[in-house]
Amino acid sequence: MIDFKKLAKEYETPLYVYDFDSMATQYEELKSAFRGRKSIIAYAVKANSNLSVIRHFAKLGSGADCVSIGEVRRAFLAGIPAYKIIFSGVGKSDDEIREAIERDILYINVESEAELGRVELIAKELDKVVRISIRVNPNIDPKTHPYISTGLHDNKFGVDLSTAKRMYIGANNSKNLDPVGIHFHIGSQLTELEPIYEAAVIVADLVRSLEAIDIKLKFFDVGGGLGVKYDDETTIRPYDYVQTILSTLTALDMTILCEPGRFLTANAGYFATKVLYEKQNGEKRFVIVDGAMNDLLRPSLYNAYHKIEALTESKAKKRAVDIVGPVCESGDFFAKDYPLPPLEHNDLLIVRSAGAYGFGMGSNYNTRRKSAEVAVENGKARVIRKRESFEDLIALEQEFLED
Ligand SMILES: *Cc1c(COP(=O)(O)O)cnc(C)c1O
Repeated sequence: MIDFKKLAKEYETPLYVYDFDSMATQYEELKSAFRGRKSIIAYAVKANSNLSVIRHFAKLGSGADCVSIGEVRRAFLAGIPAYKIIFSGVGKSDDEIREAIERDILYINVESEAELGRVELIAKELDKVVRISIRVNPNIDPKTHPYISTGLHDNKFGVDLSTAKRMYIGANNSKNLDPVGIHFHIGSQLTELEPIYEAAVIVADLVRSLEAIDIKLKFFDVGGGLGVKYDDETTIRPYDYVQTILSTLTALDMTILCEPGRFLTANAGYFATKVLYEKQNGEKRFVIVDGAMNDLLRPSLYNAYHKIEALTESKAKKRAVDIVGPVCESGDFFAKDYPLPPLEHNDLLIVRSAGAYGFGMGSNYNTRRKSAEVAVENGKARVIRKRESFEDLIALEQEFLED
């Protein structure tokens, strides 16, 4: 059990707390589901890009799935070997492509024909051969929130099957491109196997049709998206997930890559925030806390549900309350009509499942400093990111002040 009161006292609030042991358990569970198969788990760095978090996964043997060159640099800094780093994303700049090629990462995941052209041109300029994979959009409805659905033609990600095939043929004929992988990622917070199965069948068929024309791919990259329990969702068991994917790969000898983000970190993270005030506007009860949407955006952005626990002595009856922050937006809330007992100034609220897409989506809106981040491992806590100071926030502006 993590002693949040102690941590809040020592490091102040708002505060992110990550249970590193729980992250390791998640990693090991998924890794062991692949037992006996060539596989790489490439942690999706965007879910929680703190260097110490990435290093934690690096030590467990993880690779990294990155969506900007900044994330690639983080992965290197954290000690992930180049041959386990992949670089995805619909809009890579020339500079990003150049650096990824120079760093000799496992592959660049290409998301359009135009991008393939840029990658080839830059590789040629550098006189290099670059390993690529192509992100296929299998047009499958992942049955998740529309903002985190990515595998439909309506979404901006990847290319359709016939375009992909044309691209592989082009890449195979290029002196500077080495097509080694195929990739799909149909969405996030997936809680059903069916869409994953359907997508994998489509993509595996494409792999076979490429083999028939002597284009042999090594990496079958199934993306991320494994869902987690925020509330009482039924989730996919890693074992079933892996078996489902394997069942589509008969007669194909490929290394399976997967890119979990949320699965590895979401439920290992907690956001601790203190009660400032309670107030009643007519019939409506509010509790105002010191954390806000600039710390944890998911409720405001996706109307996402997070379990919230009040660490209070109060035994009084729970009543519905909107838990809101100090930011000047009506969308600044962590929960609406959530049952909580009466709360006092300085009572602590723990927002659960905050380890993925929490800190990383944070901002400095309202000139609020980003929270500190603390890791708990083997019962010991340590800071892995200091709380920002006001000076940090103005550093890039101050020199331009004129009288
Ligand atoms: C966001 C993303 C992931 C991770 O998604 P999770 O739902 O956090 O597992 C993996 N791969 C790609 C390409 C992504 O964009």
